[in-house]
Amino acid sequence: MQTKLKTALVWLKNDLRLTDQQSFDRACRQYDRVVAYYTFEPDDYLETDWGFSKTGKFRTQFILETLHSLKEELSQHRISLIVETQSATDGIPYWINQLQADALFFQKEWTDEEAIRIESVLSQLDKSVAVYSYYDQFLYHPEDLPFPIEEIPQVFTVFRKKCEKLATVRAPTETPKPLGINSLLEEEFSIPELKDLGFEPFEKHPYSAFPFQGGTKNAMDHLNNYFWESQRLSFYKKTRNGLLGTDYSSKFSPWLANGALSARMIYQEVKRYEREIRKNDSTYWLVFELIWRDYFKYISLRHGNQIFKLEGILNKSYNWKTHRKYFNQWIQGQTSEPFVNANMIELEKTGFMSNRGRQNVGSYFAKTMLMDWRMGAAYFEHQLIDYDVHSNWGNWLYVSGVGNDPRDRKFNVWVQAERYDVKGLYQKRWLQKTLF
Ligand code: FAD
Repeated sequence: MQTKLKTALVWLKNDLRLTDQQSFDRACRQYDRVVAYYTFEPDDYLETDWGFSKTGKFRTQFILETLHSLKEELSQHRISLIVETQSATDGIPYWINQLQADALFFQKEWTDEEAIRIESVLSQLDKSVAVYSYYDQFLYHPEDLPFPIEEIPQVFTVFRKKCEKLATVRAPTETPKPLGINSLLEEEFSIPELKDLGFEPFEKHPYSAFPFQGGTKNAMDHLNNYFWESQRLSFYKKTRNGLLGTDYSSKFSPWLANGALSARMIYQEVKRYEREIRKNDSTYWLVFELIWRDYFKYISLRHGNQIFKLEGILNKSYNWKTHRKYFNQWIQGQTSEPFVNANMIELEKTGFMSNRGRQNVGSYFAKTMLMDWRMGAAYFEHQLIDYDVHSNWGNWLYVSGVGNDPRDRKFNVWVQAERYDVKGLYQKRWLQKTLF
């Protein structure tokens, strides 16, 4: 009689990698058979009240590429990948039963929709199923922070300085060893296509700030180029506010957002670069920005649903407007500010916008147009290839005066354009009439 394989199901969300991934690391060490599961949540593809879905075509395409790359890597490790389009609240209990799985592994999430989904899945599982979940999206692990979550400072600089002084970044975990030969499922699962998720196939725009291609291998190829081949990392601080070209900033965000790359993996390479090539302001500054990323995750962990509320984490009320006409003008790049328009057109055509651009169009929307900032955040959520719930809503709170900006700045878009688009080349590129 064949003995039953001890089986674990790994529920993937925004942790789409095999290396430095706690769920895979632990499951592969403890179980004979590990099966990975990813689903495109139907709710993310329904039209919301704002007139668009939560997930748009750029991020969907990027996730599909990521899944293809991950599937190949997983199969070399004899891990099957199931990809579906039904809600995990139905899919996970079904597959736990079907595979007679003994355990479920996943990355912890705490924002409302994700937390409700996790609760619903867990409530349907038999008590005999072991459940393991991990905080795996941070640079500084929550257990290593120098303060409890309830005391996360309201000002970034305080947070950063304490973390830099008192916390250490954990080393990334190795890629798990391949499992036994009979651990792959017999059935092979196909990955949906763009049209299955409601989108027409599209060409990447020739002016895209970067030819983003999903998956850990592509992320590492890009990292190797940015760090080791071109050594652009040495100039990051000087170039990071740029608007044109592939190399002004690291462009790591889409891979970080869906977890094909972890912040710890980048950190480890920065440290190696500092030892082997050079250590300077720029190498420091990339880590500085990764700490910003952590900060917004901790802000949402501390403040929960308040980050999605109009009054934000400061409980401040303003007289916000919600005119659909002005919203559409902003989205379509038809405001009276050419610099805002150029950035919004770039976002519409490519799914990406520089940090400088995001700060300007966000500040303009909330502080000049006085529009309900959540509408802007919702459009970014739909459109961005690198959408990350914490970074997006946290930054929107920040630029809208209801978050963590102690100075509550309003950008002078005109001055910003003169400073960062000195010759107007960026605006010329995106405002030309012949763009497709
Ligand atoms: P780099 O300058 O090379 O920075 C390296 C990494 O540090 C980034 O990949 C990112 O992970 C992190 N980082 C840098 N700046 C920030 C920041 N201000 N906040 C948080 N993390 C940061 N970033 C997202 O990843 N997803 C979002 O949904 C998102 N929405 C934003 C919305 C607004 C209104 C604003 C002002 C910023 C938003 N950002 C978001 C932050 C930032 O604009 C992008 O991370 C950055 O432009 C991505 O390009 P890069 O990888 O080349 O960044």
